[in-house]
Amino acid sequence: MTHTLMTLPFDTDAFEPYISKETLNYHHGKHHAGYVNNLNDLIAGTEFENMELIDIVKNADGAIFNNAAQIYNHNFYWMSMTDQESEISDDLMALLVRDFYSFEQFKLEFIQKASTLFGSGWTWLSLNPEGKLIIEQTHNADNPLLYHHIPLLTCDVWEHAYYIDYRNARAAYIEKWWSLVDWDFVSHNVTKHNVVTSHTNPERIQNEYTR
Ligand code: MN
Repeated sequence: MTHTLMTLPFDTDAFEPYISKETLNYHHGKHHAGYVNNLNDLIAGTEFENMELIDIVKNADGAIFNNAAQIYNHNFYWMSMTDQESEISDDLMALLVRDFYSFEQFKLEFIQKASTLFGSGWTWLSLNPEGKLIIEQTHNADNPLLYHHIPLLTCDVWEHAYYIDYRNARAAYIEKWWSLVDWDFVSHNVTKHNVVTSHTNPERIQNEYTR
């Protein structure tokens, strides 16, 4: 199968001036597109030729892994942002309070980890196999799937994500990026994976176990 470049779920000028149209045109149209083209070239005639993207990410290594994972990561990053109003669900908020003490504490920790990741990579809000929310840094193309974690939100901290707009001021980019997060998407990811929030809604959980 031929992998295609995901269409952005917003206009390229939607985040001006926080993330410029020029940045989005390069980031999506050059960097992300480059990974798609590379992957299609690399998998031709290999065992990965007819695999879904997520299966390539889980099974490949080397250049095929790097390009496939970068496609997955960028798709996730674009989905993590919106120019529309969005809201944190009660379930997500309950989990954030349970695992980070407060939303403010979660925000501080996420921004701190994204700002201090050494070199190129990604910062994620994920669920670990025990169902706990964690903030993790991954280097280069790595992502939570490698560690059997479920990704819920990601921020791209490769220099190409911010250098046109912020030069070396990564923390300034992350502060502005935070205001663009699509909390509906993050909340949806929690719902999709049926995360247990028993302390907030015991009745619902009871129904889940008894039906
Ligand atoms: Mn990127």
